Amino acid sequence: MACPEFEDLILDYCEGAASPADGALLESHIAACAGCRQYLALQRELDLRLAKSLARPALSPDFARELTARMAERRRTPRLRWLPRILDSTGYLSLAPRLPA
Ligand SMILES: [Zn+2]
Repeated sequence: MACPEFEDLILDYCEGAASPADGALLESHIAACAGCRQYLALQRELDLRLAKSLARPALSPDFARELTARMAERRRTPRLRWLPRILDSTGYLSLAPRLPA
């Protein structure tokens, strides 16, 4: 049984979310407290088992290729952000000076 005041810190510590100062405090406490040491070991075991039992979602084999292609396409697209998107090619033509008839 962990000391109640250390339970949350032990969980943060397992997730790597404890500050260095809190981590040092916990490590010195654990050296002297069998209950918290056991609780930390149990949490780590649980984390390991969960990580092993939860399957990672599979990505389509084409995912990386399609993502790379889209990123390359974005890089090629000119960035005229000051022009509203509504100005398509027809809009651009209307901005051109009119030719004398
Ligand atoms: Zn303790």
